Amino acid sequence: MTVKKRLICGLALAFALSPAVSRAQSRLPTCGPDVLGVSRELAVGGAPQIGLKTYPRTLALEDHEVVLTFDDGPAPTTRKVLDALAAQCAKATFFLIGRNAEAMPELVRREIAEGHTVGSHSWSHPSKSLRAQNLAAAIEEIEHGDRAVQAASGGKASHFLRFPGFGDSPALLEAVAKRDMPVFATDLWASDWNPMTPERELNLVMARLRKAGRGIVLLHDIHKQTADMIPALLRTLHAEGFRLVHFVPGAKAPETRAAPAGWSSETEAFYSKKLGDGAQPARPAPSTN
Ligand SMILES: [Zn+2]
Repeated sequence: MTVKKRLICGLALAFALSPAVSRAQSRLPTCGPDVLGVSRELAVGGAPQIGLKTYPRTLALEDHEVVLTFDDGPAPTTRKVLDALAAQCAKATFFLIGRNAEAMPELVRREIAEGHTVGSHSWSHPSKSLRAQNLAAAIEEIEHGDRAVQAASGGKASHFLRFPGFGDSPALLEAVAKRDMPVFATDLWASDWNPMTPERELNLVMARLRKAGRGIVLLHDIHKQTADMIPALLRTLHAEGFRLVHFVPGAKAPETRAAPAGWSSETEAFYSKKLGDGAQPARPAPSTN
C-alpha cells in the first residue's frame, strides 16, 4: 500500500469513527493492501474542458491511472455501486441529474459522506440536447442542475459539470467558463446505455482500458448491469495493476495532456451526423505535439 493510500484510508477510518458519523460511513472498511484504494487525488480548478471523446486534451494521467465517473444518478442502483466502492476503499466522481438529486438527497449525502466527488449533469437531462436549445434555457438547465445538486449535498458538491449527451456548444462553453465550472467529457466509456450482461460489460470496458492504457471512464450508476459489474471491475483493475485517481475540486487549472495526432471529436461527429446540418466541428484544431 502506498503512503498516500494509507493516509486516505486512515483519514476515512478516523472520520468514520467520529461521533458525527452516519450509519453509511460506518460501513467504510479498514483498507488494506488487498483492495484497490486510491492512488492519488488530482485537484481540478479553473475552467478546463477535458476528455478525449469530445476535446483535444485530457488530464495528465500516468500510464495505468484510471478515474471512475458515474452519470445520471442518483438512483436506487447507486446504493450497490457505493457499497462496492466502499468495500475497495475506492473513490469516484458522480455527475448527478438535478431532479434526481432533489428526489433522493439521502444518496447525495451518502456520496459526499463517503468521500466521493459530486458534480452536476443538468437539471433534467433533456432529450433535446442543450446545444439545440435556446441559449438562455440551456444555461438555466445547467444552473438549475447545479443549484439542485448543491442543495441536496448541503453545499458540499463541486461545480464540476458534464454536459448531458456531451451536447455543448461554443456559447455554452463560454458561459460555463465564466462560472468557473470545469467541464468533463470522458476518455472512454462502457457503452452501458446498451443492454448487456455485467460480464460482457466488464470485458468491454477492460478491453478499452487496456488499449488506452489510462483514462477517465464513464459509467452509469442508474443501470443494474453496471451496478452488478462494479465489484468485478474494481477487483480486475487492482489485479491488473491499474491505479485509481480521484478528482477533487482545486484552485488551479490542472496539467493536461494533448490528444494524439489525428485526433477528432467522436461526440462532435455524432452530433454533426445526428443533426444532419453539416455543421463544422466547433473545436480548436488538436495539438499534434
Ligand atoms: Zn447522462
